[in-house]
Amino acid sequence: MPNNMESESRKLLGRLRDTLAEDSAGQARLDRITNLIADSMQTEVCSIYLFRDKDTLELCATEGLKAEAVHKTRMRIGEGLVGRVARTRNMVNTADAPSEPGFRYMPETGEEIYSSFLGLPIQRLGEILGVLVVQSKTARAFTGDEVYALEVVAMVLAEMTELGAFVGDEGGMGALHKHPVMFRGATGQEGVTEGHVYLHEPRVVVTNPVADDPEAESQRLREAVDKLRISVDGMLANVEPSDKDQREVLEAYRMFANSRGWMRRMEEDIQRGLSAEAAVEKEQSIARARLATVPDPYMRERLHDLDDLSNRLLRILTGQGKETGAEMPENPILVARNIGPGELLDYGKDLKGIVLEQGSVGSHAAVVARAWAIPLVIHAEGITTKALNGDAILVDGDQGVVHLRPEDTVATAFRDKIAMQAEAQKRYAGLVGLPAQTLCGKHIALHMNAGLMADLPSLATSGAEGVGLFRTELQFLIRNKVPRRGDLASLYARVMDAAKGKRVVFRTLDIGSDKVLPYMKPQEEPNPAMGWRAIRVGLDRGGVMRMQLQALIRASAGRPLTIMFPFVAQFDEFRDAKAMLDAVLESESRLGHVLPASLEVGAMLETPSLAFAPDRFFEETDFISIGGNDLKQFFFAADRENERVRKRYDTLNYSFLSFIRQIVTRCDTFHTPVSFCGEDAGRPLESVALAAMGVRTLSMRPASIGPVKAMLRRLDLDEVAAVIDKAAAEGAQSVRPALSEHLAERGFVT
Ligand code: PEP
Ligand code: MG
Repeated sequence: MPNNMESESRKLLGRLRDTLAEDSAGQARLDRITNLIADSMQTEVCSIYLFRDKDTLELCATEGLKAEAVHKTRMRIGEGLVGRVARTRNMVNTADAPSEPGFRYMPETGEEIYSSFLGLPIQRLGEILGVLVVQSKTARAFTGDEVYALEVVAMVLAEMTELGAFVGDEGGMGALHKHPVMFRGATGQEGVTEGHVYLHEPRVVVTNPVADDPEAESQRLREAVDKLRISVDGMLANVEPSDKDQREVLEAYRMFANSRGWMRRMEEDIQRGLSAEAAVEKEQSIARARLATVPDPYMRERLHDLDDLSNRLLRILTGQGKETGAEMPENPILVARNIGPGELLDYGKDLKGIVLEQGSVGSHAAVVARAWAIPLVIHAEGITTKALNGDAILVDGDQGVVHLRPEDTVATAFRDKIAMQAEAQKRYAGLVGLPAQTLCGKHIALHMNAGLMADLPSLATSGAEGVGLFRTELQFLIRNKVPRRGDLASLYARVMDAAKGKRVVFRTLDIGSDKVLPYMKPQEEPNPAMGWRAIRVGLDRGGVMRMQLQALIRASAGRPLTIMFPFVAQFDEFRDAKAMLDAVLESESRLGHVLPASLEVGAMLETPSLAFAPDRFFEETDFISIGGNDLKQFFFAADRENERVRKRYDTLNYSFLSFIRQIVTRCDTFHTPVSFCGEDAGRPLESVALAAMGVRTLSMRPASIGPVKAMLRRLDLDEVAAVIDKAAAEGAQSVRPALSEHLAERGFVT
């Protein structure tokens, strides 16, 4: 390439843009482009390979290789040098291609005479779209300037591909974002649903990747970056000094926004002919590509920051806001990288499902999804890049799987599953007024878990006997400051009103661990799940707990009240909490408030230690609720947020079931009512095993009450207990296979 690289590069990009503007078919455009690039780079060969399907690249156009190889030559990701570029998303630049490791000669192309090879990924925002290659006979490595020039070209090609410029009839030239894609994530909330994508943050569309006037573009970029800096400074000024996380993110934003390297690279890209938007996106694409390979969590966080910042900058440059005016489609399924509970609540209950790239089982978004009983799949990596607003999407929260733009066969099978579930729901509706009475005559009380006012109508529709767990933290998590006592009191009163005399177990604030209040000083704890959380915070910082207890007493206004303390690990904690409650009762009485007609005070058993508490604990507590989610993680020493270890240990592991039986026996000795309110209570097989271990009250999400009741009503728990014990006597670690067989014999599909 001649010396005057920048103007040459600009000229080439200008010609590319003109090609795009011509009214010609995708193939003609591609052919013209390979010709232009080869000419401009002074190489004998220029080829463009695009993806035919997610694993196979296809030679779609070439200048220099044999024409008959076009649309015939294909390679899988990782195969040959082109496949290597696609797999690693890194360039290959070599003077002697045949001696490169992995080189594969494609005889139909006639490429054996070309020695030097430069291949670059055509990628956009972390999504690899194809590979651009130039080759020449002379054995020479391409210079840094040439590589750079070709990188800029690859960027423009990526934008053009995204805009559909190369769509044609041939295999590799199908329109983008049309293929079916499946994502294997993890279950955040069970359930299956079908709908259309609604992106939380629609991606910015860059329609002008090439610009003629570098000075004007630089000026636009500088102005946009100035605006960005001002907005970051503004955000920093508003953040509470105690909010270290938020501060850290914004400091990182500021660092990037002031980074000379970032600015310089973008300015250079502009000098070579990119528009300001395309220059920003080129940097963003590089950061995304690195994200895919960097294992260090700190670096990943920073790359995410850079990605967010680039999005902000693009929105300033293009004027495209978060609200693109996209209508919420029918049956909207929200697709996002991540989302906070407040933003999620803003969307309202119209959402049919949620799919997140990040998130966790215990995240606030999961709590809301659970409260709404809508399927949530987390860890669906890359979905925000692949999905477009309005795309058809199937969400299988049971399996943690998402099908984007599904094939007809997949959609049909999926619909069958939904129909079966709907059919079952109808059957369950017929059970609403009936008790969960087993064949052996035992009554299992089924209660529901709740956390929002919006949950309460389910009390009637599900047939729950009461609210076995009201998670009060949600009201604290969705605000940016501690809610006021009066507001809490009126909310709790409305909950009690809606329950119409049914018992509601209010659990006091369970924060810490994964539930971090936006306005609470974050703790630097190596193991937050075992750290300063729940009752530990409540006792150490009595102000908030006292305020909450007052709100509960005032809400009850002479009605019966049930309060439960979370995460009690030893008797003293329960005693201290109760003492605090007694003091509050006394002061409330002194202030002239009407005290509850009756008061039940219970503890959640979420650590194995409490099962071994002194007898007095069991005598003094009015009831115990087993928080199986936490109890299981401590029993097996397996983080409930860590998919890898969480799944290793089955709830139907005999050790765990025996432990539950021991807890029940101990409670029975002291006539202390015991319930189970972890997620397993709502899983039919697990619920049956828990009931067979003697648990007589189960609290679960409302949607589970029907399936659990249907199963309990058709089983004999003594038989189930015998199956469990027999399996254990035969050495089974998990009794799941034996129990499933027992149920299958009775006509259940498990
Ligand atoms: C539990 O740990 O089982 C429980 C119900 O509490 P949470 O899931 O809110 O921690
Ligand atoms: Mg818990």
